[in-house]
Amino acid sequence: MIDGTIDLATAEQTLWDAVVVGAGPAGCVAAIGLARAGLKTLLIDRTHFPRDKVCGGCLNSDALSDLDRLGLATAVSELGGFTIKKFLLAQRRTRATLDLPAGMAVSRRALDALLVQKAIANGSHFLPGQPVRIDHTNLQAETRLLHLGSDGTVAMQSRTVVLATGLSTAVCVDEAELPVLAASTARIGMGTTACHFPSFYEPGTIYMAVGRSGYVGLTRVEGHSLNIAAALDLPRVRASNPARVCREILEQAEFAISPEMLEGPWRGTASLTRNRPQVASHRIFAVGDAASYIEPFTGEGMAWAIRGGCAVVPLVVRGVQNWSPALMHEWATTLNQHLARRHRWCRTFARVLRHPKLVRAALFLTAAMPPLGRAVVRSIHLESYK
Ligand SMILES: Cc1cc2nc3c(=O)[nH]c(=O)nc-3n(C[C@H](O)[C@H](O)[C@H](O)COP(=O)(O)OP(=O)(O)OC[C@H]3O[C@@H](n4cnc5c(N)ncnc54)[C@H](O)[C@@H]3O)c2cc1C
Repeated sequence: MIDGTIDLATAEQTLWDAVVVGAGPAGCVAAIGLARAGLKTLLIDRTHFPRDKVCGGCLNSDALSDLDRLGLATAVSELGGFTIKKFLLAQRRTRATLDLPAGMAVSRRALDALLVQKAIANGSHFLPGQPVRIDHTNLQAETRLLHLGSDGTVAMQSRTVVLATGLSTAVCVDEAELPVLAASTARIGMGTTACHFPSFYEPGTIYMAVGRSGYVGLTRVEGHSLNIAAALDLPRVRASNPARVCREILEQAEFAISPEMLEGPWRGTASLTRNRPQVASHRIFAVGDAASYIEPFTGEGMAWAIRGGCAVVPLVVRGVQNWSPALMHEWATTLNQHLARRHRWCRTFARVLRHPKLVRAALFLTAAMPPLGRAVVRSIHLESYK
């Protein structure tokens, strides 16, 4: 377990330059950058690390490029994950295999724990096991007040807050201040890890089966484990269970299944498509999934989160020195520049995936015309093709 670096009483008495709420990739990368910039930084998470997280576990080549720029690529590669080079997509018996620019498959348990350790090593303090709620009063003040713990009795002040709480539905910031719009028809995420699985699943390939009720991605990660992550229709999961729904999808795609592979335990997420019409508020910047998220089919969420975590640093630094409401607008514009095009692609995929016949047609075309598949891969992995 990763210990906190500060006790609650000291954290409470400190006036922080930046408190980062949420220690996923977005929050950790932001904390690393802020601490390197010399800000008095505190990274807080409601859970203890290492912890599991529903995710395909695939860092795409863009995410790896950003980690490299941060000086973290070697440490990530030493986690024992696998280089990903292929994407095998199936809808019933129709299959296509796409070559990918090299990414990395690694469990979120290992990756996020490493990033927390790097944040600490770069000078950020870390406080685990503390759910945070941001006080909504006094929006003109020079600091934001944060309540910690389940009863909120511990309170601390920070000049700025980075909201990196992912898809969490627990209220961290008042809905009136930063509302969240969730698509009512959006799928939910479900995930598990299998230690016993058929040899069909080789390291270095993402196996993706698409069905009527959603899609299931399987990837080998470190420690002879198979990471299973799915985006599923909520009514189907409610009427059955995630293991059964995933089994149906995998059977239809004729992917190998062993009896114990889907036994779980399963973890779930909230609705997978959500958006904050406003991504900043008085002295608060939302990053990663907390700012916006679209279904995970293209496996880019961590790349977006890491990019956001890097991009927010200069704005926070300026906000600490001299807060101006113009920074909120600037953050919205920055995020839009980084992500608007990628989000458009992702939304298109999400729509196509609702129509199995369209998916089959797309797979036929991709198999028959490899340049088409390459063009799609290019559009997602922008950095690798610059
Ligand atoms: C099924 C599925 C498959 C996916 N596959 C991939 C993939 O292969 N590749 C990829 O790049 N992306 C994938 N993603 C997306 C990826 O998981 C996310 O985009 C990424 O985790 C976002 O990072 P984040 O830092 O914004 O949030 P998270 O990683 O969700 O981290 C948020 C953190 O905030 C903490 N937190 C929440 N609320 C509070 C609070 N109030 N107080 C304190 N702490 C709080 C949580 O405990 C958590 O640790 C997938 C997602 C799903 C659902």
